[in-house]
Amino acid sequence: MSKGYNTRVYFSDQSDPRLLDILKRVSYDEIELNNRVVTDYVKELSTTNPIFGFSLHGHRADIHEILTQEGNFDVTIDAIKKARKLNLPNLRVFSVLHSRNYMYMQEMCELLQKYDFSHLQFTKLNYAGGAQELPDDLYMDQDAFVHVVKTYEKLKAKYSGTMELSLSKMYGPTHSRLKVHFLGLITPFMKRQRRACHGGIEKIIVDAKTKKIFPCVWTTGEEWINLGYYDEEKGLVFEKKTWFEDIESKIGEPCKSCKILRYCGGYCRSAAIAETNRLTGKIDLYAGFPRCPVSLKITKFVKSHEVKSFFARLFFLKKPYILSSYE
Ligand code: SF4
Repeated sequence: MSKGYNTRVYFSDQSDPRLLDILKRVSYDEIELNNRVVTDYVKELSTTNPIFGFSLHGHRADIHEILTQEGNFDVTIDAIKKARKLNLPNLRVFSVLHSRNYMYMQEMCELLQKYDFSHLQFTKLNYAGGAQELPDDLYMDQDAFVHVVKTYEKLKAKYSGTMELSLSKMYGPTHSRLKVHFLGLITPFMKRQRRACHGGIEKIIVDAKTKKIFPCVWTTGEEWINLGYYDEEKGLVFEKKTWFEDIESKIGEPCKSCKILRYCGGYCRSAAIAETNRLTGKIDLYAGFPRCPVSLKITKFVKSHEVKSFFARLFFLKKPYILSSYE
């Protein structure tokens, strides 16, 4: 299956008792596991060099368990302690923010510092799959969203050098305003629109249960973007052409009138479509990115890593300044 591909394995259902056996048999470059699996199999898995991803959605049980079963907080903290004790590499925590926990980002950082964790990613409640059943007031409003982006930037500066913080693509691009001005000047001269995202073009997801192909992990199971299927004999069978080749001419606001659209391409399509679906009740493949931090002008004016990266690229000419990946 992985022949000729870089393969990353996600286990969305980690309750299958055959999991460890499967892990030992399949070939992969990276694997993401979380809480229960690490607790049960941490010693056996430590030889496979995976990324251990823990889901922790709050610094206290009552907050974390808004999104999980009762008792899960203690299981997760136990898994984190075990992983630390065994000195496992590539430890990460993913924290889904919503309307009832976004105000505790600082407390999350403090908790993870206590366990000497080096990587925390804040992600967002995405209106897809089972999350569509959650109450609407669990999703953040615009004020909460602005708070998250601004707090993230403050915390990133505060913990610089001690903990790597990141904000998932679900929040949209977070380029500094200086970079946006600069890109606004040069993007009209770009020969070609950058790809909106690489899902379905350079990478795909194959759902192990249904064998259906989707563009990315965020769109898994969404029938409106099922691209084909995997067949033991035929291999990967694509029935639909990949998406968004004409996005520049068809995309909605705020991207339509954004001066860096040619550079940005409307960013994470899955996030834009899911949030638009939540707000309007419609699937729109050409949805603009709601509450984009760049269009809201809420990012910092200057970011030192962007300035450094610019001069490094300018003088060492390793790559053109127009980057090929997100931020
Ligand atoms: S408004 Fe759209 S095109 Fe402009 S930066 Fe935001 S996501 Fe990108």
